[in-house]
Amino acid sequence: MTLAPYASDPARSRGRRHPEAPAPTRTDFQRDRDRIVHSTAFRRLVYKTQVFLNHEGDLFRTRLTHSIEVAQLARSIARPLGLNEDLVEAIALAHDLGHTPFGHAGQDALNACMQGLGGFEHNLQSLRVVDRLEERYPAFDGLNLSFETREGILKHCSRVHAQHLEQVEPGGVARRFLDGTQPSLEAQLCNLADEIAYNAHDIDDGVRSGLITLEQVAQVPLFGLHCAQARAEHPDLQGRRLLYESIRRMLSALVYDVIDATRERLQAVAPADADAARAAGPIVRFSEPLREASVALKRFLFANLYRHPRVMETTTQAQEVVRDLFEAYRSRPAEMQAGFAAQPDRPRAVADYVAGMTDRFALREHERLTGRKLLAAT
Ligand code: MG
Repeated sequence: MTLAPYASDPARSRGRRHPEAPAPTRTDFQRDRDRIVHSTAFRRLVYKTQVFLNHEGDLFRTRLTHSIEVAQLARSIARPLGLNEDLVEAIALAHDLGHTPFGHAGQDALNACMQGLGGFEHNLQSLRVVDRLEERYPAFDGLNLSFETREGILKHCSRVHAQHLEQVEPGGVARRFLDGTQPSLEAQLCNLADEIAYNAHDIDDGVRSGLITLEQVAQVPLFGLHCAQARAEHPDLQGRRLLYESIRRMLSALVYDVIDATRERLQAVAPADADAARAAGPIVRFSEPLREASVALKRFLFANLYRHPRVMETTTQAQEVVRDLFEAYRSRPAEMQAGFAAQPDRPRAVADYVAGMTDRFALREHERLTGRKLLAAT
């Protein structure tokens, strides 16, 4: 792996919160990636909702397959730009570790339960998982990841939470939200790879589910262009192969656009090292036309898929499950696993416990505690 001067170099890492001797053959970022893959939270992603509830079908994306697709896209872009592939892989595989069961519906419900109690943000929770909640090592809580991996995991953070984190860890991963600088180029890249991944796979899952049609998505210029080109080159192509060929072309166009637009920006800014890149404003980017096209696709998916009446119906029930679980554990903490029940800040412990659940564990617990069966698998 040849690293560009502006790439994150493991030899110049800002290190781990608990110092550790280097590994004999792996860099610190490889080691972070390996710790993430072996974590409990990572294995739970396989039973957590991305958009479609986990039990609605075996072929829909889960948080796990989404994270693997983000890692694939991020690595494909990192290599030609000379960025650190191990770091982008670590960030991509960890970026959704803090997600609740039932996707954004679960996160919104948990945030509402935690109003006035510190709130709940899934990005912050991802950091909390790797910093505190994983229990694997004798000497410390969490996975003790490198600064650069943690910086990438904390993708967004409200000002009030950033101020709090800054007090606990001065000059640490939250500082950039207060001083307006950017994270490493690898972290910037994972953000875009996340967007590219869900735009593409939600078209696939949306059409597979029957909630949207290929003809409908073909009205969106970005997808429509590639669908028309696929049809022109392969007049007999239809059904799933036409869908996949169109998505493949769209993915390639987005990936090559990010590589070209980012190269152009790197040439203009010429950051001498990773810290100069952090100070230079956003660098990893789409070209303006593709940024607008991507936003239009996101808007389409929001209006036609994420807000589809059938998705909204499951959203309402999922929020009810999370709210009921929160109230049940809050009033009866002994119903939680022992480690959570013993925590002094009970609402936070309940939020940690509920956020860590897979969809199906949450449903089982909900039935056990309330006697009601919601979102039953068909
Ligand atoms: Mg994601």
